[in-house]
Amino acid sequence: MIVLVVNCGSSSLKYQLVNMDNEEVMAKGLVEKIGLSDSQLTHKWNGQKKEIRQSIPDHHVAVKLVLDILTDGECGVIKSMDSIDAVGHRVVHGGEEFACSTLINDDVMKALERCSAMAPLHNPPNIIGINACKAIMPQVPQVAVFDTAFHQTMPPKAYMYGLPYELYTEDGIRRYGFHGTSHRYVAGQIAKVMGKAVEELRIINCHLGNGSSLAAIQNGKCVDTTMGFTPLAGVLMGTRCGDIDPAIVLHVMEKKGLSTQAMDTLMNKKSGVLGISGVSSDFRDLGDAAEKGNERAKLALDMFHYQVRKLIGSLAAAMGGVDVITFTAGVGENGIEDRAAICEGLEYLGAKLDAKRNDVRGKDALISTDDSTVKLYVIPTNEEIMIARDTKELVSK
Ligand code: ADP
Repeated sequence: MIVLVVNCGSSSLKYQLVNMDNEEVMAKGLVEKIGLSDSQLTHKWNGQKKEIRQSIPDHHVAVKLVLDILTDGECGVIKSMDSIDAVGHRVVHGGEEFACSTLINDDVMKALERCSAMAPLHNPPNIIGINACKAIMPQVPQVAVFDTAFHQTMPPKAYMYGLPYELYTEDGIRRYGFHGTSHRYVAGQIAKVMGKAVEELRIINCHLGNGSSLAAIQNGKCVDTTMGFTPLAGVLMGTRCGDIDPAIVLHVMEKKGLSTQAMDTLMNKKSGVLGISGVSSDFRDLGDAAEKGNERAKLALDMFHYQVRKLIGSLAAAMGGVDVITFTAGVGENGIEDRAAICEGLEYLGAKLDAKRNDVRGKDALISTDDSTVKLYVIPTNEEIMIARDTKELVSK
């Protein structure tokens, strides 16, 4: 079975074509700047790469272009569109309507529209991508895989906010959590790597990238996570502020005369390690600047490491302990110094980093000492393969 995995953002489309007989990635790529004048497609296959610059006015054209290149005589990997057995879509918000992935039909589309109210930036482009694929490949089954679904097992004490109860019942205000597909992948993979059943483990997964979230996973189920109603909550991130006193929002809006839109931009795009450092949202740039003595870059990194460490402590408390802490995504997989700084001071928990083993990037690896009672691991995430696996499973039923 060949599955096309599609991840649509507001101006981008990431894709992977996966042969599910052996989980081999046949080709993958990225369409960027959809709707802008300098749109671009980057396609990779068999160790080769091709870039195409042309006007790509909308997602419909982007999907057509992806299918053209996948079936192209020179850089294609399939003879025709008919070789694609199913399409799996990443969808950011499934609300309380979706606790697992689902085959897309008209009712599901209506539910996705309802969920858009809670993710106005993310769900609409996901829906546009689904509609484009449906229009171009009407006979091919489509599956939605949600970032929020894995977190639907959280108990009410973890997902409720201390606000009037009606805001939950009437408006769906609660913690949903995000990066669920990544957390689910890492939970399965760490169990495999350790040779244990996932049900035997209390896992804290640290997904640390541009956006960061931690999840506490017990008996294979998410019991708590650091992102909230939106992906703005939790640890401070590349450009997002993470947890702040909610009263600050009202105070700043009033004092600076900011609109809700301007305040939203401030918290989502101008805060985090970028806002603190004034240098960059990229952790590599920050590391370089800190090394050259930039105090604000150093502060931003200190805050990030400290907050992740503190959240690890709180999630360990949520599960009454922890057996393994995993690091994934851009910073988690590659940030050797970041991992070292986060783990400094976790010894009280029984987690001891091995400096030599920690000198590793981008592969499954044990990074704790032999006498560390809590194991530490790097586990590169793979959200696309989870989407492809779910798609195969649902379509095969
Ligand atoms: P996204 O949330 O956009 O998927 P990624 O998971 O790709 O983000 O993570 C991007 C982040 O990973 C960037 O801040 C980047 O600097 C960081 N990163 C990549 N390589 C390294 C590295 N070698 N050391 C530290 N940070 C790194």
